[in-house]
Amino acid sequence: REQPIPASTSHPKGLYLLFATEMWERFSYYGMRAVLVLFLTKAMLMDKAFASKFYGGYTSLIYLTPLIGGFIADRYWGNRRSILTGGALMALGQFTLFAAASNYGAEATHPLSHQLLYLGLGLMILGNGFFKPNISSMVGSLYSATDKRKDAAYTIFYMGINLGSFFGNTVTSLVGDTGRSEDFRWAFLACGIAMVLGTVFFQWGKTRYLHTPTGEQVGETPVNSGGIKGVFALLPVLLAVMIGILWLDSAKFATIAPLLGIAVVVIAFMIFSDKSLSGADIQGILVIFIVSFFVVFFWAAFEQAPASLTFFADEQMDRHLFGYELPASLFQNLNGFFVVAGAPVMALIWTALGRRGAEPPSPVKMAMGLALLALGYLVMCFGVHDVQPGMKVSMFFLVALYFFHSIGELCLSPIGLSLVNKLAPVKFSSLLMAVWFLANAAANYLAGYMSSLYPDPKSTKPAPVLLGYHIENLYDFFLVFVVSAAVAAVILFAISGKL
Ligand code: GLN
Repeated sequence: REQPIPASTSHPKGLYLLFATEMWERFSYYGMRAVLVLFLTKAMLMDKAFASKFYGGYTSLIYLTPLIGGFIADRYWGNRRSILTGGALMALGQFTLFAAASNYGAEATHPLSHQLLYLGLGLMILGNGFFKPNISSMVGSLYSATDKRKDAAYTIFYMGINLGSFFGNTVTSLVGDTGRSEDFRWAFLACGIAMVLGTVFFQWGKTRYLHTPTGEQVGETPVNSGGIKGVFALLPVLLAVMIGILWLDSAKFATIAPLLGIAVVVIAFMIFSDKSLSGADIQGILVIFIVSFFVVFFWAAFEQAPASLTFFADEQMDRHLFGYELPASLFQNLNGFFVVAGAPVMALIWTALGRRGAEPPSPVKMAMGLALLALGYLVMCFGVHDVQPGMKVSMFFLVALYFFHSIGELCLSPIGLSLVNKLAPVKFSSLLMAVWFLANAAANYLAGYMSSLYPDPKSTKPAPVLLGYHIENLYDFFLVFVVSAAVAAVILFAISGKL
């Protein structure tokens, strides 16, 4: 055990266990999300604006609960117990949605379906909080602090995420988004099964494979059995709180927004009131806050995929390929596909630039990510220019959009994560990771709100207005994202030297 570890380029088997577990979990998360708004509008008969906000509320809470799950794991549960419990809760959530989708009448929605919908999503929000932060941090704990393979490990892990998203999205679109409302349930059933597979696989391999290079088990429970039971007893309360917030937010929009604001202020106060931080620490932390702010603009536009972009694919896009009509929700799987295919290419580009001493610094890469996002929507604007209700646009534009967005994601998401890792003082590493998650939560909330402004050609209501700007048609709508992302890119680029 004391022997030096041989220099190795291959990765520990534990990485592949975490890879597979996360792959199944993302299969379930992205698979469900891909058909969610269509399920809400077509089977549960919600209007598009409401379904959009509901989607935003749900995904926003998904990024908020990791704060709770991370904290509980550090103090009481350890990573393993948290992942297993989170996985079980999420599987239960998917099966609850399966029940909700199996229970409605053909014409109207049944109140029980609505109750099951809230229960299912609440279970998934809570489960994700225990699962996601813990599986991510376990990847790093398989290596020693200075191990050079760590960055590569996270890249491999990111592949697992996107393979899962690709397959999950593909399966749920094909079995669920068939044009028959009663088929949505098969999508949720598939996601439930995927989540069970991931959880069982993790349980099977955890003792065998999850250890440090010196053989110590990682992610075990900190010794405190009273705390373990206490948290279990707390689960129903946490579940009720999550369902309550989701319900309140959908009944009276914007309950979650002040919650996010309060969380940011509290965290900022906790960090900046610490007198032991050096000037350099504080500068690093400020950079994390600033970069997180820009990231909000990225994800708010990016996460239109399962919402407004899917409405567009459903109503305004020609989806025929070789005589077969593709499901509207299927196109989102291009994101996972382009990320997996593009990541090695991007890595080659960064290394080649690095060899010439020309690799851009992280904030510049992130500004490029925002610029690519704007470019994706710009292509879309060309596609929908002058399009009338009832006219169908070529799928080329959406495919191109997903291509640019995925390459943009590769410039921004993994790079931002490792930036947070590097700049955060050890003492505040989890709290600053929470800031990153909060940026995602705010962005997803905003994404739901933005999608609620999607101009419905069939609607008789007046055109949606955003800060005095009237969104009369699809061109006006997509232009909002071109402008917001481009402005954010330019500003981030301009201040990148200072950062
Ligand atoms: N696609 C990545 C994941 O699911 C990152 C998503 C995000 O940070 N918003 O983990």
